[in-house]
Amino acid sequence: MSTLDERPTITAPGLTIEGLTVFVSEVIDVVNPATAEVFVSVPDAGAEELDRAAEAAHDAAQTWRAFPVALRQEFLLKLVEVVREHIDELALLLTLEQGKPLAKARGEIESGLRYCEAFAAMDLPIEVVRDDAGERIEIRHVPVGVVGAITAWNYPLLLAIWKIGPALVAGNTVIVKPSPFTPVATLRLGELVQQILPPGVLQVLSGGDELGRALTTHPLINKISFTGSERTGKAIMASSSSTLKRLTLELGGNDAGIVLDDADPAVIAADLYWGGLSNCGQVCAGLKRLYVPELMAWEIEDALAQIAATVVVGDGTRDGVDMGPIQNKTQFDRVESLVAGATSDGADVFFSGEAPEGPGYFHPVTLVRNATEDMALVREEQFGPVLPILTYSNLDEAVARANASDLGLGASVWSADEERGTQIAGRLEAGTVWVNQHPMLSPDVPFGGIKQSGLGVESSLHGLLAYTDISVLRVKR
Ligand code: NAD
Repeated sequence: MSTLDERPTITAPGLTIEGLTVFVSEVIDVVNPATAEVFVSVPDAGAEELDRAAEAAHDAAQTWRAFPVALRQEFLLKLVEVVREHIDELALLLTLEQGKPLAKARGEIESGLRYCEAFAAMDLPIEVVRDDAGERIEIRHVPVGVVGAITAWNYPLLLAIWKIGPALVAGNTVIVKPSPFTPVATLRLGELVQQILPPGVLQVLSGGDELGRALTTHPLINKISFTGSERTGKAIMASSSSTLKRLTLELGGNDAGIVLDDADPAVIAADLYWGGLSNCGQVCAGLKRLYVPELMAWEIEDALAQIAATVVVGDGTRDGVDMGPIQNKTQFDRVESLVAGATSDGADVFFSGEAPEGPGYFHPVTLVRNATEDMALVREEQFGPVLPILTYSNLDEAVARANASDLGLGASVWSADEERGTQIAGRLEAGTVWVNQHPMLSPDVPFGGIKQSGLGVESSLHGLLAYTDISVLRVKR
């Protein structure tokens, strides 16, 4: 635990290439969003480091894929053990680079490890299509080869671990490229696993967008698993086409939640609030537009404001802080301008919480009413601690407004009547539709977006199989 006056000294982690820690002359300065100061500088990998890592990954893939699945699963469990032993160190790095409170940073890592444990218990099925006197036909799931895992800055370790776990169990080797805003904990993870995984199996390269682009065109990389913005997802789809890479794209969301007129605001308020505003609103499948019946709007707004008033915003390394800063200055400015645009178009900020003065990127919890779809705050993904509330008088019209988006990551319905809630949920266009919760993710349940929120899924057996190709075996008898 540190205070603003006694900040911990951080040793810069290096790249992990072929089982070794590597430093280069170019660096990325990493800013602590709670102080707006650079707290560590890490390597900025270039084409040379990528080539070395890709060659090592390609070589290691031959041995790694030949290991029995059970052995790869054992390695993954060793990774879990090592990360658990270092969880305090990793959580502090996450808080310093991402901003979230320490307890949430620990929670992020623990959650990632539960996913790894689940993948370590999943087998790759062999489906027997036919086994008769004439022929035996099997559908086998074989590794794709080398996976480039590119991640965003909101959950740096969780997003990386979501990719590493299934990719390794499926028999691939992995090169992780974290966001240049939050590379530190992921680099440290790479260093920690050097002691347990064979060289080349898991490598970490920090670098900017250019490095990400280079991964997507590299001839030795067979698949890109990407979490980030819709814009980048589309660029990746285009750039990886020249080498026909397999793709999993987890992109942005603009999730709508519809409260039905039978819901009790007092019962749902806390889940609604945290559905939209956990992780400082920087959650891909967070609740980003809330539709409420006109006649209940006041009650819901009041219930949400009461919860918001209890939320302590501050430096995530301090005790008692519930919400940290926005992760970076560009995003902070964007959130401010979305709120300013909405208010100048007639929306009303009915609650604005307390937040420390800068230089950190602290933004008050902001609840906005009289919002409409012609405001960018509603049309676009705000990705910050701001929740716009829209009213409706006709439920069919609310469903149509919720669906009127190019994005389709998540959505939710809130009702005291499960059957009615489930029936309305069936009309919403999203990769996951929740009833009376938002978002809730589990290792054994697929997660992904429809429409322009993504391609493919992560988690569950479906997520594991996304790291494989189908290879059919036909034996004539
Ligand atoms: P971003 O797209 O700007 O960057 C993500 C990563 O892509 C970074 O590592 C970046 O360096 C890299 N990158 C940038 N340009 C690239 C290119 N042309 N080719 C290859 N790599 C490139 O996204 P961000 O701002 O870091 O993250 C926020 C976004 O991520 C939000 O839209 C959010 O909804 C989304 N997100 C989605 C999920 C999900 O699971 N669906 C989860 C978390 C975040």
